[in-house]
Amino acid sequence: MMEQIKTDVLIIGGGAAGFSAAVAVSEMGLKAIVIEKNSYLGGKATGAEVGTVCGLYNFSKNKESVFAVKGFAKKFAIELQSKSQTTPLSNIIGLHYLPYNIDVYKSIVNNYICKHNIHVYYNASLKKVGVDRDELKTATIELNENEIQFTFNSIIDCSGESIVSELAQLPIMEEDNYQAAAQVFTMENVEPISETQLGMVLIKELKLAIDNDILPPYFDRVYVVQGSVKNTCVSFKIGIPIEVTYKGKNYLDIKNKANEMIQELADFLIKHISVFKNAKLKSIAPEVGFRISKRPIGNYVLTVDDVLQCNKFEDAIAIGTWPIEKWGMDKRVQMTYFEYESFYQISLRCLKSKYIKNLFFAGRSISADAEAIASARVMGICFQTGYAAGVYASMVGDSEDLICKKIQFLQL
Ligand SMILES: Cc1cc2nc3c(=O)[nH]c(=O)nc-3n(C[C@H](O)[C@H](O)[C@H](O)COP(=O)(O)OP(=O)(O)OC[C@H]3O[C@@H](n4cnc5c(N)ncnc54)[C@H](O)[C@@H]3O)c2cc1C
Repeated sequence: MMEQIKTDVLIIGGGAAGFSAAVAVSEMGLKAIVIEKNSYLGGKATGAEVGTVCGLYNFSKNKESVFAVKGFAKKFAIELQSKSQTTPLSNIIGLHYLPYNIDVYKSIVNNYICKHNIHVYYNASLKKVGVDRDELKTATIELNENEIQFTFNSIIDCSGESIVSELAQLPIMEEDNYQAAAQVFTMENVEPISETQLGMVLIKELKLAIDNDILPPYFDRVYVVQGSVKNTCVSFKIGIPIEVTYKGKNYLDIKNKANEMIQELADFLIKHISVFKNAKLKSIAPEVGFRISKRPIGNYVLTVDDVLQCNKFEDAIAIGTWPIEKWGMDKRVQMTYFEYESFYQISLRCLKSKYIKNLFFAGRSISADAEAIASARVMGICFQTGYAAGVYASMVGDSEDLICKKIQFLQL
């Protein structure tokens, strides 16, 4: 007989969005259970070691980084900054971001999970959902080859991959291929150099090596992870030149290519760039970073125009200050910006399924078109949509107007 467990809100995925949603549900006085397929929480923030939180501050030429977010996102960021012993950085364009320590991130998340009495099922994958007309009734996970069935009042899809809508066979927004994946790795024993100088040396040396056929052309997509040059270490992010399709053994092909490229690049750095002459490869992030995937369809779809025209909504529950990023297969990242000191808003309707009354979305899994999500997926925004979805899912039965006011009071 299959084990059966009841909860108020079931959350699929324990990344930035899922964790924030679980905290919100708990703060609303309800029972939250998180299903996470990895053996750790954090999703891309820890598994792919992305290294900086974007989307927290105003888009501004001012040197000072001023929080644009409020509520839980701001509270979490302040703790992350203080315990990581970092400060926000900005670039000449006016983008501000917070570097963080991956272990510190994990430990803060763990502390929240314990203090909020949130139940997490690790190494557990959502496999099936049971739908009755316009309501999700059950979700079945696989854990150690056993199946466990959950019943709930609401379910929040924070999988980044619209897994709930897919399993429920609901319409979803999908493309033939998605933005390029990237892999982070860290070198240690690097001689002192500033991040700016390293960035310039790297671009020059890689170009030379590519022009002279020492390295293949796709090595032009190597980036220093901002804020990572310290304690003789530096982290790099490399773009992987294989289309992201999520089909067949796509993940495996990309992971193998990433490992091969890291080896080639590490050897190159040691041989050709003097500050690396005594360096060695320290670690490779456990996961390749996949940026965007299929998205579910909500009562409203956030569009590229909403982002670029900085549209505002009466039922806004989150704000976005980050531009649209385009990570292509054959060139370095391209950014599309909106006006300085401006921001767009995300409607409550992007967090709820158009088809199922107790299905909610957050993080990379909100209802947004392919370009809009290329802005709305950054972590500062995932914390907000996650927290908002947690409140929303906890208030089923209340009017949307009341729910909106509650979320706006908490974080806008
Ligand atoms: C290479 C790269 C660099 C980036 N750089 C930055 C940056 O510098 N700053 C920034 O703010 N953002 C950055 N981002 C974006 C950001 O990290 C992510 O968009 C964000 O962390 C997504 O959070 P999420 O919770 O929505 O999804 P995820 O972090 O993807 O979390 C989803 C979770 O769901 C779990 N899951 C999936 N399917 C199932 C299932 N069937 N059952 C159970 N669990 C499941 C996954 O294991 C995962 O833990 C980057 C992303 C990438 C890939």
